[in-house]
Amino acid sequence: MEFEAVIGLEVHSQLLTDSKIFCSCSTAYGAPPNSQTCPVCLGMPGTLPVLNRRAVEFALKMGVATHCQIASFSTFARKNYFYPDLPKGYQISQYELPLCRAGWLDIDLPDGKRKRVRIRRIHLEEDAGKSIHDQALAGEQTLLDFNRCGVPLIEIVSEPDLSTPAEAHAYLVALKQILVYLEICSGNMEEGSLRCDANVSVRPLGTAVSGTKTELKNLNSFRNVERALAFEIERQIALLKQGKPVEAETLLWDADAQQARPMRSKEEAPDYRYFPEPDLVPLEVDPAWVERVKRTIPELPEEKKNRFRQQYKLNDYAAQLLTVRREIADYFEALAKRCPDYQLAANWMLREVLRVVNERKISLQEFPLSPQRLAELLQLILDRVVSQTAAVTIFEEMLHSRKSAGQLVDDLGLRQISDEQQLAAVVEEVLARNQKLAEQYRGGKTKVLGYLIGQVMKATGGKADPVLVNRLLREKLKTT
Ligand SMILES: [Zn+2]
Repeated sequence: MEFEAVIGLEVHSQLLTDSKIFCSCSTAYGAPPNSQTCPVCLGMPGTLPVLNRRAVEFALKMGVATHCQIASFSTFARKNYFYPDLPKGYQISQYELPLCRAGWLDIDLPDGKRKRVRIRRIHLEEDAGKSIHDQALAGEQTLLDFNRCGVPLIEIVSEPDLSTPAEAHAYLVALKQILVYLEICSGNMEEGSLRCDANVSVRPLGTAVSGTKTELKNLNSFRNVERALAFEIERQIALLKQGKPVEAETLLWDADAQQARPMRSKEEAPDYRYFPEPDLVPLEVDPAWVERVKRTIPELPEEKKNRFRQQYKLNDYAAQLLTVRREIADYFEALAKRCPDYQLAANWMLREVLRVVNERKISLQEFPLSPQRLAELLQLILDRVVSQTAAVTIFEEMLHSRKSAGQLVDDLGLRQISDEQQLAAVVEEVLARNQKLAEQYRGGKTKVLGYLIGQVMKATGGKADPVLVNRLLREKLKTT
């Protein structure tokens, strides 16, 4: 019997507000432990939460960007559980009436197809603190850092519309791109600002039965999400094939061992004894606010990608890579504005600019060359003043020089030889030295042309205009 997987993802994303969701403590990452706390986020008796308007606005942005229905009336609830990193003993979340519901997101699949993934809900909640188990620091003791307590989160819950680990990966990538485009989340999975849990079950292929779900936690990188899902799907299928039941449980992904380990039996909603948060009034969002938020939504990755394909005649691959982040797209557009050959501009972005950015682990804002200066260099290629190879040398030099591309051409002696007479002499010389090859060419073995071009390039120190060399060689081979 063949099986298929049914996967739903719950993505927690930390919102980039300056202060926490119910108090004015800072949310800055990396501060000394317990330096960003106050009686409210530590859950001291008698304190009262005050909702951060910015956090609501950010949640609205994500709701609008993913085509959700925005609730004009939503409420907060207490989710009760005991854990050392949760000093209040409960988490303030939204339960019965979330802020956003019934949205969707289109994703590009690895095979080139597209899929619409429905979003069940997006709700606001607060983050918990962090337990630190560090042998060197505290031996067998566990340390607690409450800085993260009360950092605003949105939880984005998908419908179980995903059927493979690759689809789950594509969905997560698309979601992260939108969050980062909206500038409401850093999207950094390593720092925990984006976290993903997955619900997985399997069923006989083509049926509508629902199998027993397990929940996978600790999927703290894009690669882990894919690997953990593949592992869990295989495990469940193996059980069913042996006629054994799948237990409803929560599993923790161990990236080192490449295994999912049982953590606890899966808790259901009643286990959390949800009840309405008595210290917060219901959240009312009027349509005018939603309209204002709508107007702040920038062009999103999907639209931008489509526009790049059309406006700049780029292929899918280039359009995809150039719209991964807004800063990349902006840089490319600034470059394309000054470079009439869009393909050349795209090639240079992908091959050189992004290579340097990735190697140096810097942002494009820190990239030393402005689009304007790079465009000057590309113009030299288009004007056939320099070859592509020479342009790369100039590019490397420009990264740590204030000189212009035009100046560096001469300083480095890289001006392309486009003088026809001068090159014709070199071509004749090369042909005289390679008479056998010339004969072979005339005899129909045209492949030798590449070698002959190479010889001319070598004789000119790589500075000959290759287009011209090609033409001159063909002409000479034909006439003599
Ligand atoms: Zn606080």
